[in-house]
Amino acid sequence: MTTSLPPRDLTSQVASRTQPGEHMTPDEFQRYGHMLVDWIADYYRNVEKYPVLSQVQPGEIRAQLPPAPPQTGEPFEAMLADVDRVIMPGITHWQSPNFFAFFPANTSGPSILGELLSAGLGVQGMLWATSPACTELETHVMDWVVKMMGLPEHFLSTSTGGGVIQESASSASLCAVLAARERATQYAGNETGATGRLTAYVSTQAHSSLEKAVKIAGIGRERLRLVGVDKTFAMRPGALAARIAEDRAAGFVPCFVAATVGTTSSTAVDPLPEIGRICREQGLWLHVDGAMGGSAAICPEFRFMFEGLELADSYCFNPHKWMFTNFDCDCFFVADRSALIRTLSILPEYLRNQATESGAVIDYRDWQVSLGRRFRSLKLWFVIRHYGVEGLQTLIRKHVTLARDFTRWVEEDPDFELAASTTFSLVCFRHKGGDAVNERMLAQLNQSGALFLSHTKLDGKYTLRMSIGQTHTEQRHVAQAWELIRAAARG
Ligand SMILES: *Cc1c(COP(=O)(O)O)cnc(C)c1O
Repeated sequence: MTTSLPPRDLTSQVASRTQPGEHMTPDEFQRYGHMLVDWIADYYRNVEKYPVLSQVQPGEIRAQLPPAPPQTGEPFEAMLADVDRVIMPGITHWQSPNFFAFFPANTSGPSILGELLSAGLGVQGMLWATSPACTELETHVMDWVVKMMGLPEHFLSTSTGGGVIQESASSASLCAVLAARERATQYAGNETGATGRLTAYVSTQAHSSLEKAVKIAGIGRERLRLVGVDKTFAMRPGALAARIAEDRAAGFVPCFVAATVGTTSSTAVDPLPEIGRICREQGLWLHVDGAMGGSAAICPEFRFMFEGLELADSYCFNPHKWMFTNFDCDCFFVADRSALIRTLSILPEYLRNQATESGAVIDYRDWQVSLGRRFRSLKLWFVIRHYGVEGLQTLIRKHVTLARDFTRWVEEDPDFELAASTTFSLVCFRHKGGDAVNERMLAQLNQSGALFLSHTKLDGKYTLRMSIGQTHTEQRHVAQAWELIRAAARG
């Protein structure tokens, strides 16, 4: 650890905190900052040694915390000691290479440093004028993302659309539903609250965030139509068209369709060309949710999922899942930014300024639900520059190769079967012994602490999900997981 300060013991620290309201000085910040970075580096060195899934019982962490906040300030060393003692046992180690549950929420050194810098600068990027670099870097990096992922050109800020970083795919989907609602009501929803008899459409495999968005947008869950899927768990366009026609005949006003490229349960890819054609013919807003799968598009061989994306009004994916950028970072693109801005813009007197009035700048507060926003593009910028496009391609391909190896092992084992085909880096599989056996295996495996897997139901059957995408997952971790799974099957 490099520091210009001599180490101080705890007693002198406590004594030095007698003045109420005393700040951490820049020198102290430097010292504790180094200490914390050292702590994080050690964490990554040792992350494999922790049980992946936290083993604490409900209430166990809180029981160790004092009931009341401290009356006087405490030394930083005491806080860090409590992180080790109280907090760490309650951590599920998402950054462990043995984390295979849900989808990854991976991160990387450059991302963590970008996050730290964002906190250090502490800017509020609600308007261009409140920190021009916050807006312009974001616009620029989002244009880079369009180019590096092969997205349609109208998502570029230099065209009719543009991109914005949202905190999550859920927020992006909400903004898409709101814009769809407003476009369908000629912006009357915002004015009078009259949304009429709007209906929205997703497949039975869509993420729950779409249902939440439709509820928040005032369309109502009953008017969210769940369209059936085919054998690959992809939306059936014929069923979509039929439901839209049925709703029109009944006097409803269809306004929104969400298709998914990489569903949450099984990474199925909805057929965008057919769905897009239906949306165009019917004048419906098409949102494409690529939360997990979207990151694969950094590799040209996975852009098959984008066939038809040029027919979409909006698209989102999460670098905070599978692109080494820590939560939160969702990239949300729209083809026509005016629809989004018209839906969300607001201009109170206290935010009026010349740059905004001139129309020459982007004010991202008009592209999201909240007013305030952090400088999130820094971490994405650092990640893209650290790895380069080729580096990111190499890492994504590595995960996909590991998933294909795992898929083959499942196929070759007479006791196991695949529950869906492996599109990217998620393998859905099950033991042939039935639901109870799979449930028992999952509990036993996760309790062991050696790895963390999660489950879903496909075709009504309990299914194990092996999701490979953690930053530091190597062949040996995947091979060990398979050994443990087979051992668990033997009882
Ligand atoms: C994970 C996931 C989401 C939700 O992502 P958040 O960023 O956590 O809101 C949405 N859609 C799909 C397909 C997902 O896999």
